[in-house]
Amino acid sequence: MAHQITSKTSISGLLGNPIEHSVSPIFQNKLCEIMNVPSVYLPFRVMQGDLAKVVRGLQALNVKGFNVTIPYKTQILDFLNEVSEEASLMGAVNTVKIYGDKLYGYNTDGLGFIRALESQDVCIEDKNVVVLGAGGAARAVVVKLAQKGAKRVAILNRTQDKAKNLSELVNERVANVAVSAELARDLIDKYAIDCDILINTTSVGMWPDINKCPVDSKSIFINKPVVFDMVYNPLKTKFISIAEANFCKAINGLGMLVYQGICAFEIWHEVSVPTKIGIELIAVLEQYFAEMQDFR
Ligand code: NAP
Repeated sequence: MAHQITSKTSISGLLGNPIEHSVSPIFQNKLCEIMNVPSVYLPFRVMQGDLAKVVRGLQALNVKGFNVTIPYKTQILDFLNEVSEEASLMGAVNTVKIYGDKLYGYNTDGLGFIRALESQDVCIEDKNVVVLGAGGAARAVVVKLAQKGAKRVAILNRTQDKAKNLSELVNERVANVAVSAELARDLIDKYAIDCDILINTTSVGMWPDINKCPVDSKSIFINKPVVFDMVYNPLKTKFISIAEANFCKAINGLGMLVYQGICAFEIWHEVSVPTKIGIELIAVLEQYFAEMQDFR
């Protein structure tokens, strides 16, 4: 049963534009209910130029904190008093905690990714990993892979300069594990041959281009124990379907989405959320997606 709003109910929320398709309010409010935390999570569509006013308003209203999504993940840095080391490495903030007159910035994407893998009993240490893509999501993933002791991370991207910049950042500031290359068939085959975990961080295969796949070589899926796709719309991308057909352990992006949100919830409310609640929330979202005809 949804919890009652009283004069003690606190507020958190999501700032972005567009945000109409975000599923964060669905699982965050369910999380408040399951954890018995008297709080509500609301979507706030913020128009360009209004971010400063919105942040000041939320602070004045004593809001607990908020998530930040496109296009404000970097712009929000201008308003923060302190930024976590993780968010500074990632160059972006997705979670802000308001504490008195101070704003603290975090990035929970990397931790969400790791918790999603750990919830599926996937360990990173000493593994050879191939990461397709070098955008914002890749940055969070590659930083975390290096911090968690991956043996080698090959970053393959359509624009090789971006892959090179990311590998340099990680090698200089985290651990010397990353190599970069173009997202080209011969290079994928070369790096994927002894890879333990294959990760898609590109947006290829996302709705409405659901028949697209970031790689055209099906052979790279053969003998890959774990295949992870950051995309969660649709839940079963072509990338995931090919992985399943090749008997890989295939994991979609829903777990990462839920666990990055759980990490934010833990920061705002200073509680610890057990992994089994993440699994429960994933099931809630799977059902929601199945029921929502106009999800897209
Ligand atoms: P981004 O910063 O815009 O990066 C997009 C990446 O995709 C870049 O590497 C880009 O390559 C590549 N790409 C785009 N179109 C391509 C194409 N046609 N062929 C080859 N490569 C292409 O976006 P992002 O924030 O990293 O997000 C990427 C995906 O991850 C999105 O689908 C997003 O929804 C998903 N995501 C999921 C979660 C989660 O919690 N599950 C969290 C964050 C993001 P170039 O550099 O060459 O342009």
